[in-house]
Amino acid sequence: MQATEPLTHDRVLAERARYVSAGVSTPRLVVASADGARVTDVDGRVFVDFAGGIGCQNTGHRFAPVVDAVHRQVDEYLHQCFMVGIYEPYVDTCRLLAELSPCAGAQQKSILVNSGAEANENAVKIARAATGRPAVIVFDNAFHGRTLLTMTMTSKVHPYKAGFGPFAPEVYRAPAPYPYRGVSTDDAIAGLERLFKSEVDPETVACVLLEPVQGEGGFVPMTADFPRRLAEVCAEQGILYVDDEVQSGVGRTGKMWAIEHYDGVEPDLLVSGKSIGGGLPLAAVTGRAELMDAVPPGGLGGTFGGNPLSCAAAIAVLEAVREPEFLEGATRLGEALRARLDALAAAHPSIGDVRGLGPMIAFELAERTPDRAKAIVDAAFERGLLLLACGLYGNVIRLLPALTIADEELEEGLALLEESLAAVDG
Ligand code: PLP
Repeated sequence: MQATEPLTHDRVLAERARYVSAGVSTPRLVVASADGARVTDVDGRVFVDFAGGIGCQNTGHRFAPVVDAVHRQVDEYLHQCFMVGIYEPYVDTCRLLAELSPCAGAQQKSILVNSGAEANENAVKIARAATGRPAVIVFDNAFHGRTLLTMTMTSKVHPYKAGFGPFAPEVYRAPAPYPYRGVSTDDAIAGLERLFKSEVDPETVACVLLEPVQGEGGFVPMTADFPRRLAEVCAEQGILYVDDEVQSGVGRTGKMWAIEHYDGVEPDLLVSGKSIGGGLPLAAVTGRAELMDAVPPGGLGGTFGGNPLSCAAAIAVLEAVREPEFLEGATRLGEALRARLDALAAAHPSIGDVRGLGPMIAFELAERTPDRAKAIVDAAFERGLLLLACGLYGNVIRLLPALTIADEELEEGLALLEESLAAVDG
């Protein structure tokens, strides 16, 4: 687009259609700026943002400590490649991840990469190298990314898998608890045991990967005892437990990592991403030194992984989120959201379930089609609220406001949500 031509909504949409692959699904929003819990479009319309770039803005758009840190970093250097020149922000990000790690083991180490999918790929590589075993177990409703291995691990055919096979070998799927749809902890554990009988020898399994709150799959929190019982099975069988917290991490549930809500489980590897970079691309795998050092030098890495700008941002994010007041604020936000969604569910029989962990919260519509959820998202957009649907059936509305959202903004967003639901339900 020529700099002299005015930046209008229609113009950007037309040029998007002309130049950008249709394979990336896009909304009608054309962003001009964003701040805190709000996004402004090129026509000057201001939206309350309950999407956060899909869970990447737990600290809000342009979080001041992130902006300051990035500005300082821009004046020093932009890129080095950690395999060419070591730089302190990378090491410091890994130090913070070690200090905050929920994983088992005294000494924690990390590798930094660009995306959640890349981090999950690396977690599998590390688990395979550390155990000498090939197989990977994932769960129903999982989302782990869009690369060949991670789309194989992801549990949704359209749009993530259809037409993209053949898939990666040695990936097996077990049931995950989903009480609202009738799957209990016992069912899930029984399904895993059956998998060991019918499909895969547990002695060949390197790792399981599990989201403590399944994100794209519909904001389904694991039942209170499932992670512990899964960890017990893993310990018996010598299988590593990989905790995918790309969406549930960095304060999203009111704790630094969602797995901290669950007793009796210390994962072997933690996968983080999204909000950790405060809006810049960053993801990580963290775990005890013995596992993280199982891969020989050169086996892990990548040109841009742990880019200095992303690391400067991540340090600012992690320092802020680890503060007890930040997490207390997030917990209060979760309580406020829960109360409002429960009231909404009481008034709307179309809502079948309200669920979540702290401020990682959603409601599932009783009918298993995406139509009503899509209508709600559209109605919200018309009224100035950015919302996202999720779930295997696309019938879950998830709320991902900045954890720093002001009370008035939250109220405004929730009022718009109520109006949107009323408009769709009639
Ligand atoms: N894992 C989880 C739990 C996610 O929610 C996502 C993205 O939504 C990913 C992995 C993939 O992350 P990315 O899109 O950064 O590759």
